[in-house]
Amino acid sequence: MSIIIFDFDDTIFNTRKLKKTIFDKIESLGISSEIVKNSYEISKKRFNHYTPDNHISIINEMSDHDISPKQTAEIKAIDFSLHRNDKIHDILSSLSKKNHLILLTIGDQNFQKLKIHKSGISKYFHEIHIVSDRKEDFISGRKFTDDVYFINDKKSENKIIKKMFPNIKVIDFNINKREP
Ligand SMILES: [Mg+2]
Repeated sequence: MSIIIFDFDDTIFNTRKLKKTIFDKIESLGISSEIVKNSYEISKKRFNHYTPDNHISIINEMSDHDISPKQTAEIKAIDFSLHRNDKIHDILSSLSKKNHLILLTIGDQNFQKLKIHKSGISKYFHEIHIVSDRKEDFISGRKFTDDVYFINDKKSENKIIKKMFPNIKVIDFNINKREP
C-alpha cells in the first residue's frame, strides 16, 4: 500500500473549465469580459481565496451593474456534470482499492467543499483536507511509514515538496493538458 496525496484544482478537477463556465454566466448578464477578468484578479488578491461571491462583490463595486442575489444564485448553480472526467474517476477508483488516498487542497472551505462534493470524487478518498495555505505544513505534521506520492499541477508547490521531503515521489500532473 502506498499513500497517494492528490491536489484537487486543475489536477483531478478541471477548474480552468469551471472558471470559464462562471465567467460566461457573469458575462451573459451584460458585464464585459474585461470587467469579469479584472474583478477576478482583484478578488483573488483581496480575499486570499477565490469564491464566486467574492468575485461578484468586486464586480458590483467596480461597475455600474448590480448583480442581484437571485442572479448570484443562478451564477452559482453550476452544472457539475459538464466537469466530470470519467477517466479520472476510473483511475481514482482503482487506486483507492489498494492505496490510501489523501486529497489535499488549498482554498476557501465552503467553495472547495462544494466543488469536491459535486465532482463526485470524494468517495475515492480516505482523507480530505482543505487548508488555507502551504501544503508542506500539512505534510510536515504527518508521519508516513509507507511510500508517499504527491500528485499536483502547480510546479512552484512541487518544487518545495521535492526539496523539503526528498523521500516523497512528486508527480507533475495537470488535467488541463489532457482535457483542454
Ligand atoms: Mg492545483
